[in-house]
Amino acid sequence: MALNVKLNRTDRRIWDELDSFVPREIIDVHTHLYLWEFNSDPDKDKAPEAGKTWPAKPFREDFPIADWGQSDKIDQILMPGRKVHRISFGMPFAMVDFEATNQFIADQVVNDSESHALMLINPKMTADYLEKQVTQNKFIGFKPYRLYSVTGDVDNCRITDFIAEHQIEVAHRLGLIIMMHVSKRNAIADQENIDDMKRLSETYPNAKWILAHCGRSYSSWAIEKGGKVMRDLPNVWFDTSAVTETDAIDALLSTVGSDKVMYGSDDIPFGVMRGKLIAFGYSWALLTEDNHSFALNHCDGKLTFIRYEELRAIHRAVKRYGESDKVCQDLFYNNAKKLIDSVSPNVPSTL
Ligand SMILES: [Zn+2]
Repeated sequence: MALNVKLNRTDRRIWDELDSFVPREIIDVHTHLYLWEFNSDPDKDKAPEAGKTWPAKPFREDFPIADWGQSDKIDQILMPGRKVHRISFGMPFAMVDFEATNQFIADQVVNDSESHALMLINPKMTADYLEKQVTQNKFIGFKPYRLYSVTGDVDNCRITDFIAEHQIEVAHRLGLIIMMHVSKRNAIADQENIDDMKRLSETYPNAKWILAHCGRSYSSWAIEKGGKVMRDLPNVWFDTSAVTETDAIDALLSTVGSDKVMYGSDDIPFGVMRGKLIAFGYSWALLTEDNHSFALNHCDGKLTFIRYEELRAIHRAVKRYGESDKVCQDLFYNNAKKLIDSVSPNVPSTL
């Protein structure tokens, strides 16, 4: 399949802003690898949406195959000359073949000894099954998702509605990562999410939580509130994936500190889609080339990659935060390396 990613003049101008800032070696802690065929919804080719929440076109038409080679190619186009390691997991389609997804992920990450996989889980899976899969496939953690909530309410579910407590207990016992995309309107500022994170991180201190997308705080207000509590929880980290507002990254760094923040791209396909997660009021939305009717004759008008918008936000926030060189190394590599190293030796081996 032809790789449909090309830099235009606007993209190149933006990469010029970023080239000297983005380190040569990177650990990208939030990447998706999948095949479109793992989406087991029988109507998936008719629906305008994939996974209930995302447009289907990037999956169905642009990236039906999102494997290791594609990720490497995209990284070389968007961030030329960088060596990229990854924490990867499957795509949490609403209806998905979990077994095939997890086998695929396990097979793909062996392409790089410094890259690792998380197992896509739903709350019905038993502790025994999780432990066997971790051992067999060397997963360093779990990727639960709100679309698998036992309540059926994907927008307002609590954390333990989509990751069962016996599963968190496995993560605790084996010292594994949980990649958590919190639900609810106020995301990490929601009092139930805050209470749940406090209780779960204290009850299961060896489970290592990564709160994805700045705790799903695509603008500053949610992390300004939630971050103040999360900074006191020693087993909670954050990734910056798909967060494109400087103020959100700024608030994240100033509340939780630079040693808890890690770069993630949310590719494939989100980081390589053209658009921006724009914040307004107490809301945010994905602006794309196809969903607006702005009159843009007065300016360049072109949308760039979500990943470039994220990198620009990180760049500006890190400059404001200070100690840019050190913080940059920590965000793009050191923090993730330390976290992975704290997990890897604990993963039981079949050898
Ligand atoms: Zn993601």
